[in-house]
Amino acid sequence: MLIYDLDISKLTELVTGWNEPAFRAKQIWTGLYKNFWQSPEEFTNLPISLREKMAETFVFNALTPTLKLDSSDGMTRKTLLRLQDGRQIEAVLMRYDRRRTLCISTQVGCAMGCTFCATGQMGFTRHLSSGEIVAQVMYYARMLHAFGENDVVTNVVLMGMGEPFHNYDNTMAAIDRLNDPDGYNFGARRFTISTSGLVPAIRQFASEKRQVNLAVSLHASENNLRANMMPVNKRYNIEELIQACREYVETTGRRITFEWALINGVNDTPEEARKLVVLLKGLLCHVNAIPLNPTTGYEGKATTRERADAFKLILEQNGIPCTVRIRRGIDIQAGCGQLASRQDKKPSLPS
Ligand code: SAH
Ligand code: SF4
Repeated sequence: MLIYDLDISKLTELVTGWNEPAFRAKQIWTGLYKNFWQSPEEFTNLPISLREKMAETFVFNALTPTLKLDSSDGMTRKTLLRLQDGRQIEAVLMRYDRRRTLCISTQVGCAMGCTFCATGQMGFTRHLSSGEIVAQVMYYARMLHAFGENDVVTNVVLMGMGEPFHNYDNTMAAIDRLNDPDGYNFGARRFTISTSGLVPAIRQFASEKRQVNLAVSLHASENNLRANMMPVNKRYNIEELIQACREYVETTGRRITFEWALINGVNDTPEEARKLVVLLKGLLCHVNAIPLNPTTGYEGKATTRERADAFKLILEQNGIPCTVRIRRGIDIQAGCGQLASRQDKKPSLPS
């Protein structure tokens, strides 16, 4: 049993079932989420008999790093992590000023099949458990803690491998666990969930009125083009998607982010920008445009700086805030799923 899969009530139930007082569960929780201990031996505040019981019962090493890559500017670290069943996922740490943003995975592979995405090209293997999602954050939290007391994770984006809303319950359970004030105490507003546009899940998410930020991968404002890039559009088309987004903003009062991978000559033209302006009219939103990260399975090319700037200008002149994200970590294949897909082809790389 993976220890990070337990919430505090389940842990308390187990510990008291061993005839231990309930406060022992609290001590374990504090050790895990405030001290970042990752093996039973580190819990020196507990009786040896309890530590032995923990070692027998729980799996602590949810994730084993098999490859660590730092970008040439040293600001981005990408880690390939092996799960208990041998599958691999990736998690990225991006440093920018005081920000420490983690990009974590929610699935092994992805069922959505977006043509431009390395994870989509891989297909779906399985969902991550809530504990496997939590463990990615704790892995980096511990690493930063070792660098210095004040070096802490500031933001977590669920933009690694997988579609978080296809693994809804485990994703939300992971967020809740990391959010626990008695544990890691990571504020809901510091999370961003990114979805390819699963409309019923967007509605459910809106109704739960969480403080978590929502990003929607749009990439096209016309159904034919979007369906070619993102098969999910055949299930939930742009009109339904934007309607759900408008409802989300109305229900929660929160701004929504639209992601747009700028592909040269495909969706980075002035006409595309103008169509997007019409589509998003009156919606409390922000557009995050990022030059496409080229992948082997997709022939599209990244936009150029000039084209990206022109795209951004049209949006902003029409009252839609737009950021063109700098490509971080491109030299370490920090695009979604790119490292893991390369690994699949070379399973014998050193660990
Ligand atoms: N499945 C979710 C979250 C993971 S993907 C989603 O699709 O939103 C995170 C973001 O990376 C999405 O906006 C996705 O469209 C984008 N992305 C995937 N492959 C990309 C690539 N090759 N270049 C640029 N962005 C990419
Ligand atoms: Fe899945 Fe997101 Fe990649 Fe699409 S972009 S295949 S939804 S991970």
